[in-house]
Amino acid sequence: MTAPQPKPWIMDIAPYIPGKSKTDDGRKVAKLSSNENPLGTSEAARAAFARHAHDLERYPDASAADLRDAIAAANGIDPARIIYGTGSDEVLHLAAGTFAGPGDEIIFVKYGFAVYEIATRRVGAVPVIAPDKDYATDVDAILACVTDKTRVVFVANPNNPTGTYSPKSEIARLHAALPEDVLLVLDHAYAEYLAPEDDDGGLELARTASNVLVTRTFSKIYGLAAERVGWGYASADIINAMHRIRAPFSFSIAAQDAAIAAVQDTDFVTRSRDHNSKWLRWFADEIAKLGNAGLRAVPSKANFQLVTFEGAVTAEAAYHGLMDHGFIVRWLPGQGLGNGLRITIGTEEETRGLIAALRKIVGADA
Ligand SMILES: *Cc1c(COP(=O)(O)O)cnc(C)c1O
Repeated sequence: MTAPQPKPWIMDIAPYIPGKSKTDDGRKVAKLSSNENPLGTSEAARAAFARHAHDLERYPDASAADLRDAIAAANGIDPARIIYGTGSDEVLHLAAGTFAGPGDEIIFVKYGFAVYEIATRRVGAVPVIAPDKDYATDVDAILACVTDKTRVVFVANPNNPTGTYSPKSEIARLHAALPEDVLLVLDHAYAEYLAPEDDDGGLELARTASNVLVTRTFSKIYGLAAERVGWGYASADIINAMHRIRAPFSFSIAAQDAAIAAVQDTDFVTRSRDHNSKWLRWFADEIAKLGNAGLRAVPSKANFQLVTFEGAVTAEAAYHGLMDHGFIVRWLPGQGLGNGLRITIGTEEETRGLIAALRKIVGADA
């Protein structure tokens, strides 16, 4: 007798590795490894969450109607065409699970979000990796991967872990050249960090096209990563199909009300975006000064910066050095980025402190 056997494609999945929050020797330090909001969470969202400490015995609203209404009002979209999930991670899994199965192909970019590969393999589909163009999304490379087995294309814009961004014209070109029966998933986890003129047109495409799903999250600019609220917007037919495999109760009622307050607190979002653009620019300028030590900041429009190391000090050495100085960042050799560190933009103090530590590590102040 043998033990229950996992499906072979399940054992092909490399487990997701979350950002660390402690050093290897257990010290608590500045966590700049998971792209969380350094300004915390909107006070209104905290208050909404706290109001639910006394009604824990009831199931939450399974249709998340109030949350969908709030999201729809904020984005000028139809609440009936919004799906939601336990983080946008679940929405990404729903997309793969609804539209792909064993033998089908799902395309994403080489330095793409780690969940795409897990979502693909989980349903027995085949991951097809499109080469990058200097770390960024290459629309032509994606299109060259399309076959009659392609069912889904995942594109994060801005992308994680690279921070790179494809303008509206490139997203439109990708969509126009994809077969109509291929679902284009535009993962907008960092869309709120973009300046209005950098809107990639994804929501408008999802409104009008029959094969576009936009996903969004409350985990990043809204500072609600702990509450696991994500959503997606697509045609009524796509949303209707995806709902069939959704877990009935995605997140708590406290999480729903916190998310409603968060989406309505536009002051907090604006402050968070302004903080990020100021310190992202400062950070990239500081990395540019370390060019002769082999460091480079890959152009980012997200709330983190990918820094590559091609000099005497390697990314691995800098990763450990930063940890010794009290900063946890993300080193991603498992994603083919052994030469890079992904560093979240923190508070002013954290950001300045990290650059000071990095300058010491590469010997820039010697
Ligand atoms: C952080 C992130 C997500 C989602 O996170 P959830 O917390 O599950 O909503 C999705 N896509 C990308 C590219 C991300 O970086």
